[in-house]
Amino acid sequence: MNQFDINFDYQHIWHPYSSMINPLPCYSVVSAKGVYLKLNNGKKIIDGMSSWWSAIHGYNHPILNKALKKQIKKMSHVMFGGITHPSATALARKLIYLTPKNLDCVFFSDSGSVAIEVAIKMLIQYWQALGQKRKIFLTFRHGYHGDTFAAMSVSDPKNSIHKIYNHFLPKNFFADSPISSFHDKWNENDLLSFQKIIKTHSSKIAGVILEPIVQGVGGMKFYHPKCLKKIKILCDYYSIPLIFDEIATGFGRTGKLFAFEHANIVPDILCLGKAITAGTLTLAVTISSRNIADTISNSKVGCFMHGPTYMGNPLACAVANANIKILQKNEWKIQVSKIEKQLCQDLLPLLNHKNVVDVRILGAIGVVECMRIVNIESIQKFFVKNGVWIRPFKQLIYIVPPYIINSKELSILTKSIKEALDNPLFFI
Ligand SMILES: *Cc1c(COP(=O)(O)O)cnc(C)c1O
Repeated sequence: MNQFDINFDYQHIWHPYSSMINPLPCYSVVSAKGVYLKLNNGKKIIDGMSSWWSAIHGYNHPILNKALKKQIKKMSHVMFGGITHPSATALARKLIYLTPKNLDCVFFSDSGSVAIEVAIKMLIQYWQALGQKRKIFLTFRHGYHGDTFAAMSVSDPKNSIHKIYNHFLPKNFFADSPISSFHDKWNENDLLSFQKIIKTHSSKIAGVILEPIVQGVGGMKFYHPKCLKKIKILCDYYSIPLIFDEIATGFGRTGKLFAFEHANIVPDILCLGKAITAGTLTLAVTISSRNIADTISNSKVGCFMHGPTYMGNPLACAVANANIKILQKNEWKIQVSKIEKQLCQDLLPLLNHKNVVDVRILGAIGVVECMRIVNIESIQKFFVKNGVWIRPFKQLIYIVPPYIINSKELSILTKSIKEALDNPLFFI
């Protein structure tokens, strides 16, 4: 990008979580292939972020591109009210097949946050159908469920960007987040706060909403599967529906197709997004149990009241179908477990680094928690110069690379992290 273009960008375009007066530097990407992003100056950098957990098979994938081209020749879009189409039907069929038996009814939307709004609206209507005005949700602190209002209202109330809007948000219940990490011993005390709230307020709680196993934006923590098992028992006991937000973790990232499989339990509502189109188009789904769908449908209102304009977009559904076909070849399992092994080899030794508090690895997720907050501008410049794209936040340097990354490319990512840790000027 020439200077004029970059200045135009700075003056006129909002970027995620950014300022219009003091924007962080932006890099112009002109194309992408495999694990590489190509910058406007011709430099190629390895994407360690999979475009925020989504581009799991890498960029410009021939099978995904072919599916898009095939669909575009038929139609790019058609309204979903009163109309259906083969790509949506095929995708719903695949999703129902891939998910546990009780998850049976698919609602398509355009983004993860909206999939969460939909799940929350479903439970509001579910309780109304049962003659109860329940509206309070129970979740963990340090969660993240998106940037729209209901999603913000169940995201961490204190430490998140959302505290700015707190006075506008519905009030929900927040239990202490679990401390026992995925690989640690389970500590029964982890659920004391959750159990106390659910027991005291069981007749008011409309639903429990959680990110299973991985708390993402809230701190990149991996908690113990036993925690989910016990929560499922509590939810069943008090007849409170359970929503799982697998928008980040779905489609293999943690080593299981869905993170809740680590705990061998199933939710009543499942939200999927991000990797569902393997990083090509925006799409999300909210899949509910037959019981929830039927209860809503048997109510006086009788309908579920949501319907985005681009609902079930054929291009997005077509490419999601192709993504799932690739996943069903099961190469992802080998790819993710290879990445996990190498992340352990390359990153765990950093535990001894004086700048490091913790190193966490699960599936194709590698997290280095630093002593101090990262200076994003200077560290990003260093990473780009080193040929990698890594975007830390707060004191967390993490990577979620495309599953197709090879060991040489992955070691370039991990080496860059190690080198960055050695420079105290990259930390505030
Ligand atoms: C990204 C994310 C969302 C929000 O999805 P968008 O598509 O950005 O709206 C919700 N929950 C989790 C766990 C996420 O990682």
